[in-house]
Amino acid sequence: GATLGVMGGGQLGRMFVHAAQQMGYLTVVLDPDAASPAGWVAHHHVQTGYLDEQGLAQLMQRSAAITTEFENVPAAALVTLGAHRPVAPGADAVAICQDRALEKAHFGRCAVPCAPHALIDSEAQVGAADAALLPGILKTARLGYDGKGQARVANRDELVAARRAMGGVGCVLEKRLALAAEISVIVARGADGTMVHLPVQRNLHRDGILAVTTVPAAVDRDTETQAVQSAYRIAESMEYVGVLCVEFFLLTDGSLVANEMAPRPHNSGHYSIDACDVSQFDLQVRTLVGAPLPVPRLHSPAVMLNLPGDLWTRPDGAQIEPDWAAVLALPGVHLHLYGKTQPRRGRKMGHLTVTAASAAAARETALRACGILGIEPF
Ligand code: ATP
Ligand code: MG
Ligand code: MG
Repeated sequence: GATLGVMGGGQLGRMFVHAAQQMGYLTVVLDPDAASPAGWVAHHHVQTGYLDEQGLAQLMQRSAAITTEFENVPAAALVTLGAHRPVAPGADAVAICQDRALEKAHFGRCAVPCAPHALIDSEAQVGAADAALLPGILKTARLGYDGKGQARVANRDELVAARRAMGGVGCVLEKRLALAAEISVIVARGADGTMVHLPVQRNLHRDGILAVTTVPAAVDRDTETQAVQSAYRIAESMEYVGVLCVEFFLLTDGSLVANEMAPRPHNSGHYSIDACDVSQFDLQVRTLVGAPLPVPRLHSPAVMLNLPGDLWTRPDGAQIEPDWAAVLALPGVHLHLYGKTQPRRGRKMGHLTVTAASAAAARETALRACGILGIEPF
């Protein structure tokens, strides 16, 4: 079969490789890390930097089409690749998603509301920022993830200090909103413009990191429709090809605002591997090769728990291996470990998805898994 290329060798690349292999494709991963989660499950691992000319040439030579699994692939690399091979998503769309300022401008173009915000690129803009944005969250415009590159600021003095601490890089100051819930929508769009989406997910974050995803999201129908239609407009107006995730905040006043988007499969869509008849990684393969996009169906309610490196450390600091046997004894548990050897605090080591006949049963089993693993109940 043909070989599909992926820029980036993290867990998202690994799950893409699994989906591609299931459909009979060979795979090649570009990632500088010898022990990357995707590198050692792919057929070929090109072990160079993302801008290395020889590495890019090798990836191109082997691949019929190329996708990315992380947000911060240098846009220049995608431009180079895109000149010779089909690349999805394209460099233009990825560039928008890489920069919070461009991203928010794009939401505006699509008439999708987002948090009140201001660009902070200079000391002068700190002074000029509207007081109504405080208390707020200062976010670096680029390269942030899992809440990294963010600071909560209560007043202007804290804003000044936080900007200095970030080294004066371009930032966005966002008003801190009163959240009732967080949801996300994963859309897949083919080169012919066909769009499908996964069921809306409800997400619980802890310390800025996704901890739990629950599906169905149990939000009202209007909210769900608004989220899906917004995500469709966002994808369509970028002429996006591939899998796109849009995160939303549901506010305490009932309104819905977009938070950010990711030009790739997303942590909040991992449940789809075990709970849907077409997963987000299947959709990524299909959009890349131009295969049809059937409407995904959720066949089981599901709860996904992230497994951060914290679970490998006891309160006294001793390293342990979590009790997988006890967790695997529970019904409907699907354990996914990413093959990472260094369990650091906050590092995503794996996830588990609980599927069940009802949402209540999935939740109950997930809570038992939390008890066994030492995850705070939700
Ligand atoms: P990701 O890993 O999802 O890419 P990130 O580092 O890009 O995360 P955000 O999604 O911007 O960060 O924020 C992380 C979390 O912080 C959000 O999911 C939400 O819980 C909280 N948060 C962010 N912005 C706001 C806001 N304006 N008001 C209230 N809470 C917020
Ligand atoms: Mg982000
Ligand atoms: Mg986020």
